[in-house]
Amino acid sequence: MTAVEERPGTRLQRPDVEPGQLFIGGRWREPVAGDRFGAVDPGTGKTLTSVARGSAADVDAAVAAAREAAPGWAATPGRERARILHRVADLVRTRADEIVAVESADVGKPVSLCRAVDVETVAEQYEYYSAMAQSVDGAARTIPIPSHAYTRREPLGVVAAITPFNFPLILSTSKIAPALAAGNTVVHKPAEDTSLSALLMAGILAEAGVPDGVVNVVTGFGSEIGDHLLTHPGVDKIAFTGSTAVGRHAASLAGERLKPVTLELGGNAAHIVFEDADVEQAVGAAIKAFVFNTGQFCMGGPRLLVADALYDSVLGALAEAVPHVPVGDPFDPATVVGPMAGERHRVKVEQYVEQARADGGRIVAGGGRPALDGDAAGGFFFQPTVIADLPHTSRVVQEEIFGPVLTVQRFATEDEAVALANGTPYGLAAGLQTTNLARAHRVAARLDAGIVWVNDWAMLDPAIPFGGVKDSGFGREYGPEALDAYTRTKSVVISLA
Ligand code: NAD
Repeated sequence: MTAVEERPGTRLQRPDVEPGQLFIGGRWREPVAGDRFGAVDPGTGKTLTSVARGSAADVDAAVAAAREAAPGWAATPGRERARILHRVADLVRTRADEIVAVESADVGKPVSLCRAVDVETVAEQYEYYSAMAQSVDGAARTIPIPSHAYTRREPLGVVAAITPFNFPLILSTSKIAPALAAGNTVVHKPAEDTSLSALLMAGILAEAGVPDGVVNVVTGFGSEIGDHLLTHPGVDKIAFTGSTAVGRHAASLAGERLKPVTLELGGNAAHIVFEDADVEQAVGAAIKAFVFNTGQFCMGGPRLLVADALYDSVLGALAEAVPHVPVGDPFDPATVVGPMAGERHRVKVEQYVEQARADGGRIVAGGGRPALDGDAAGGFFFQPTVIADLPHTSRVVQEEIFGPVLTVQRFATEDEAVALANGTPYGLAAGLQTTNLARAHRVAARLDAGIVWVNDWAMLDPAIPFGGVKDSGFGREYGPEALDAYTRTKSVVISLA
């Protein structure tokens, strides 16, 4: 589907991407209604290609294909499923340039980060769940009556995987890899802003030997086909990653139908710098935590809480360092911060920065659009921005901004730091900087979050589960825990009397 212009010794080029079709039952198809929409390159603001605008009829076809393929895939030995998943990992590494080019052009991700993080993580996830596919097994149980008793772990059937715009490759894989390892089939609906890598991966999965109908991709708008997929009687499980508002809606539809659902939702993590922290390390981690993926990171660290004793020095170090973070063309290997994934995301961030000014916030770095030239002048860039002195009640502190914006607040005591950290509706990630080991464990235990990092940020691995508490959702992805979300336990008790 994609042609990448590669010239040895030169940097990766923007790809020519053919118009995207739907992938249903192992075949590329035009949408039933024939509608399409544009995929925009956020680094230039120009249209990259067009994508099929799926309708309810396409969802029906995809669910039917997934249902038809389900018994065969469930009966495929785990070892064979493992071989296929491992081939996916190998193909992802072999075709890394092509995948990086498409994902970077579609999402605006800096190519260096996309290669090291997104593409590498996808390969690692397929390797990890390839190993897991061989050990999806039950256990013998001993009970007092004469019997042979054991549990079986069975796949759920057809999984509807709905994913957001910010990490298209990683977040679709974090559903598809464990779902396939456990013997389920999948209908994937990627985000309308960033659908292209889902189509590329569909081709790679087929090339690796995933049978027809086991993974189907329907592109289109959540507002048009989302409810149809969520309420489809042929869907057995919903795996949703996205905003808290849409997740709440998905959960209510799933609840009415008693469908199992996992929800990976919004975040607004606090990053606490205690007075005993290594300041240089803390500032470095704080910058990484809020600029990574241009702040479009559910587990980013947009709220920095700094002990009174360090407040001025940390703010000074941020004011000095943040303007030097390289912002620009994602295809420049030196770029660290690319554009926002879409104009509407940038507008939302600008509104929050306006609100911060109105709420008495002091802009310490950034605060507007950077001056870029060439093609980048049309891109959706926003400067990494640091805002001090906002009250905890400000919407800018309480809500998820989802852009390269850091608010900095001060605290006097450990109890106050924990109260501020836990004082929003979210609970996805959290972090702290300290050289006191006892404090590290004590505070980690008190934070409302599915994952806590100490003395660094975003240490993630397919073996480490993550997920939310409170308005950040429920269920865990990654680790063996993810398999629990894609299997059900059946007990078998055979009388020996
Ligand atoms: P979103 O909720 O707008 O969209 C997510 C997906 O839901 C998209 O595919 C969209 O098309 C679909 N959708 C929209 N309306 C729907 C409906 N009525 N029924 C079914 N599907 C529907 O989220 P977004 O803007 O794409 O992503 C950003 C959000 O995702 C942020 O809140 C971020 O924190 C969150 N996120 C969470 C995690 C996590 O692991 N917890 C990871 C990444 C992003």
